Amino acid sequence: MTPARIERARCVTCRRCVAACPEGAISVDGDACVVDRGRCVACGRCAAACRTDAVRLVWA
Ligand code: SF4
Ligand code: SF4
Repeated sequence: MTPARIERARCVTCRRCVAACPEGAISVDGDACVVDRGRCVACGRCAAACRTDAVRLVWA
């Protein structure tokens, strides 16, 4: 599984994913959130928290 990716067009900066991330890997960058790939452990909590289906985790 790869680090989380956030689709900017779907993100409404509600910050639910920021609050859900145990690694502090998500921050707001202007009008969308971004994931620090170096910190992300691919736990999937951000994807579960997001209500706009903006987060993608890809299983390799
Ligand atoms: S997958 Fe887990 S560690 Fe990675 S950004 Fe989402 S909540 Fe944080
Ligand atoms: S939970 Fe979804 S919509 Fe909300 S800030 Fe995170 S990625 Fe954006």
